[in-house]
Amino acid sequence: MYHQLSQPEVIEYLTSDGSTGLSAEEVASRYEKYGPNELRFKPGKPAWLRFLQQFHQPLLYILLLAGTIKAFLGSWTNASVIWGVTLINAIIGYVQEAKAEGAIASLAKAVTTEATVLREGQTLRIPSRDLVPGDIVLLVSGDKVPADLRLLKVRNLQVDESALTGESLPGSKAIEPLPGDTPLAERTNMAYAGSFVTFGQGKGIVVSTANATEVGQISQSMESRVSLSTPLTRKFAQFSRTLLYTILTLATLTFTIGLGRGKSWIDMFEAAVALAVSAIPEGLPAVVTITLAIGVNRMARRHAIIRKLPAVEALGSATVICSDKTGTLTENQMTVQSIYTEGQYYAVSGGGYSPKGEISLITDGNPGSPYPDELPPALGDCLVAGLLCNDSWLKQTGEDWSVVGDPTEGALIAAAAKAGLSQLGLLSLTPRLDAIPFESEYQYMATLHDGIPRLIYVKGSVESLMRRCSQMIDRYGQMTALNAEQIEQAVETMAGQGLRVLAFAKKAAATHQHSIDHEDIETGLVFLGLQGMIDPPRPEAIAAVHACQSAGIRVKMITGDHLVTARAIAKRMGIKTAAQVLAFEGKQLAQMDNHQLAQAVVDGSVFARVAPTQKLQLVEVLQSQGEIVAMTGDGVNDAPALKQADIGIAMGKGGTEVARESADMLLTDDNFASIKAAVEEGRTVYQNLRKAISFLLPVNGGESMTILISALLARDLPILSLQVLWLNMINSVTMTVPLAFEAKSDRIMQSPPRNPNEPLITKKLLRRILAVSLFNWILIFGMFEWAKSTTGDIAVARTMAIQSLVAARVIYLLSISQLGMSLVYYLRGQSTSITNAPILILGIVAAVALQILFSQWGVMNSLFATATLTGHQWLICLLPMPLMVLWAIFTNVIDPPDCHGK
Ligand code: ADP
Ligand code: MG
Repeated sequence: MYHQLSQPEVIEYLTSDGSTGLSAEEVASRYEKYGPNELRFKPGKPAWLRFLQQFHQPLLYILLLAGTIKAFLGSWTNASVIWGVTLINAIIGYVQEAKAEGAIASLAKAVTTEATVLREGQTLRIPSRDLVPGDIVLLVSGDKVPADLRLLKVRNLQVDESALTGESLPGSKAIEPLPGDTPLAERTNMAYAGSFVTFGQGKGIVVSTANATEVGQISQSMESRVSLSTPLTRKFAQFSRTLLYTILTLATLTFTIGLGRGKSWIDMFEAAVALAVSAIPEGLPAVVTITLAIGVNRMARRHAIIRKLPAVEALGSATVICSDKTGTLTENQMTVQSIYTEGQYYAVSGGGYSPKGEISLITDGNPGSPYPDELPPALGDCLVAGLLCNDSWLKQTGEDWSVVGDPTEGALIAAAAKAGLSQLGLLSLTPRLDAIPFESEYQYMATLHDGIPRLIYVKGSVESLMRRCSQMIDRYGQMTALNAEQIEQAVETMAGQGLRVLAFAKKAAATHQHSIDHEDIETGLVFLGLQGMIDPPRPEAIAAVHACQSAGIRVKMITGDHLVTARAIAKRMGIKTAAQVLAFEGKQLAQMDNHQLAQAVVDGSVFARVAPTQKLQLVEVLQSQGEIVAMTGDGVNDAPALKQADIGIAMGKGGTEVARESADMLLTDDNFASIKAAVEEGRTVYQNLRKAISFLLPVNGGESMTILISALLARDLPILSLQVLWLNMINSVTMTVPLAFEAKSDRIMQSPPRNPNEPLITKKLLRRILAVSLFNWILIFGMFEWAKSTTGDIAVARTMAIQSLVAARVIYLLSISQLGMSLVYYLRGQSTSITNAPILILGIVAAVALQILFSQWGVMNSLFATATLTGHQWLICLLPMPLMVLWAIFTNVIDPPDCHGK
């Protein structure tokens, strides 16, 4: 119904004010009434249901079934231990999942969306959740519409409502009232919450917030749930399905062969269950979730917020990082250093945004005495253009000056201040009547100012302005013909020093003109001059670029800036693919055929004056070459490229809402170094998962070999199903979880990226698993048979087999952990510190304590059919430890575990 009302009617209906907005008291009372502007989702599945879902895994079905059959056979202890263990498993799984989901959800919440509102006559940035009906909201391209708005004013406003209407093309907006029966998708005078401003600007009044909005109506019937599924967890699910069939086949086989050999079928059933239980790595799913969750947390601590979990894995295998230049690779701390007007260069001294500094003419390569004694007319015009055609301002706190707004613009204000020009002073003499804000698509900004005559000032990239200029101001302030060649040369000189060059122009407006449009400045501009500013590379980004390159990850700079500037900065940062820095311009790429383009995209390391649509093309071409691409973006039009990239990265500080919503990851400090940190953590996650697998599976392997072989040989089982469960659940989990906490290795960034098509368990890893499985089998089987024949007590023999397995396992754990590695380095005198000791030692101590209880405590003896061991027997159980040391040294020499990837 709001779309039927005229603008004054809506404002009156909502008792607001179109030019000053609501008062503070009004806002407070409305907030009281309507609550925060946040979507409330349908409550998710109840906890008990999600808990029950933990049992919905093929491998757990087997366990539950085994327990039931045991119960039927009357072994209640057995049955309850099996059920107990599945229950513990489900509890661990549930808690871990809830924790991981909570962590990701709260990270997502920490990133607040903001809106620009008009309240009490002032324009403010506030969190979107604080909006109330009646608020006047200002929209610019890149914004997310924060609530349902009836538009009051639009300028070329285009809004992407695909989330709401399914219409993929952004629609143009208007303000005229519409008939009552206009369908939602055609209400051009409304902007709905959750849609994105893709172009232009607008002003609207909030008509509904939170769940009263159109999208709110939908969200009430939806659950908000974080997905914990990643390619890796899907691979695991597939792996366990395959495992299930193998287990069922083997168990049936054991059962029938044993029966054929004359064993009782109760015995054979125990063997079949033991086999099934032994082959299942029960602790693995929990370890995967924990490792991923820890990775997400570590990344967050290093300024990279993961929005979509699969990105954690993709980061580990990234082969190319395409990064923005300004602000990500560089500081985005601009200072004008050089000014050019017809035939003359000026040097500007001073740093930062402080007005301290001087402007002086350069003659014969040396700066002369400083202005502002007598400011040359062209220099003055050029500075004034930079000052007036500007949406930012400077703020002083103590001795420090900072920019509110765009650093590029801040630099221009500081430069003008060095010549004694003041922003406020000039604006009061020639007030601004209208403006076309900067959009990277046009690469310029223009403002219209009152005065006699009314003047339009334009600033922007050299290319975009020169095209529109026919004349220029000479050094004496006189109009002359444009000398394009000379200006080009000046641009080359300034850009070659890595300066960001902006061009300035003006034009006389019609006497009563009160607004400007793109057409007004199509032609007839008068060129004033150039200002060149430095934007130093971030030192930590230089180091990060270097680290990425030695980790086999190529870094490419993508920028809207000038080719020469971009190349100079790339050189300084050491960004290169080949021996030299190959740079391409967007328009060159546009003219290439597919083959040339592929070549250029792979070889090039700098892409300048790139249009946002070309970013998408770059990602696609790289991906077609088999690359795993991380791409940064902050603008409205970067969203498709961010979605297409394997890891879309948006800026948390700068950057638009549109870009953030499309990204997989946010950088809270907009710094390239944080991308490198995330890659490092991504690689570590993968490495730690591999470690966990290479730790868990050999025990399963050794156990199943033992049971299979003993059953086939019709000998007593060296290990019972319950004991297997103890080993696989209790012992495995206490010892594996510390592996998820392993710190990153110093060498993690020294090997090439992991091939994403490579199977999780590589040939090398498989060899290691088999070798250790074999060791474990020899150990269990040998210890059991020996102890049985010497003591004659089968319970003692089984207990000793298990204890010696765990003893050897402690050594194996050390051998694949960072602690073990650093111990070796320490002993060799190659290192002075021992890393990651506490958690691992805690895990080992806990595991040892549990093992002691396992055999020395009567309750455990009756639950798990173990026996109390004598001191002498304990000592014998420790004997495999030195053997494992030898074994570990041997396997470590052939396959160092600490190398990433393999
Ligand atoms: P990047 O962020 O990669 O440096 P941008 O798209 O921001 O590229 O800028 C591209 C070009 O547009 C710059 O080289 C500059 O010439 C011009 N430009 C940048 N910011 C402004 C601005 N605020 N006003 C006018 N022109 C600008
Ligand atoms: Mg920029």
